[in-house]
Amino acid sequence: MIDNKIESAFPHVLPSLPYADNALDPVISAKTIGFHYGKHHKGYFDNLNKLIAGTEFADLPLKKIITKTAGKADKTAIFNNAAQTWNHTFFWHSLRPKGGSEPSAVLKQKIEAAFGALDACKKELTTAATTQFGSGWAWLVLDGDTLKVVKTGNADSPLTQGMKPLLTIDVWEHAYYLDYQNRRADYVTAVLDNLINWSFAADNLK
Ligand code: MN
Repeated sequence: MIDNKIESAFPHVLPSLPYADNALDPVISAKTIGFHYGKHHKGYFDNLNKLIAGTEFADLPLKKIITKTAGKADKTAIFNNAAQTWNHTFFWHSLRPKGGSEPSAVLKQKIEAAFGALDACKKELTTAATTQFGSGWAWLVLDGDTLKVVKTGNADSPLTQGMKPLLTIDVWEHAYYLDYQNRRADYVTAVLDNLINWSFAADNLK
């Protein structure tokens, strides 16, 4: 259950990666992971802890902080850092070495019901990931009982719209620029074909 891996309490601590920092090479290099996980992701934790120390949010679990600060103009910094800590942990688990391939039967059936075929689902994810203007995320989510692909800008999360994330792809430039420069579509295609963790998505259906 991903919630057990993501949920944390103050002071929120950067969780370990579910694989070695070079395990996604060559699709995502150890150098990218070093900055993305070691600097960007860690930075969101450090900022979040500073922002919530001594506030009403210090006693809340991460998901509560995200939903309670969403859309509140005076809580934007806390929302952004809380959501980014969550989004990134979720993203690391959305990938795995030797990923891609085929989802298990239950997930595949749901994908075919919603999109017609696995390739159509991957195409929608690619479109969402490549058309997100600027920084953001592409997601496969469960909305009610239906699978959908959605995109969010900056730190935004489908959690704030009552949807259940199944997997995500980070399309901030820091996720791919060292390895792909401006070629976001190449990064997204390589991730979907070689790293995407369908078994993680299937676990999140439960
Ligand atoms: Mn990122």
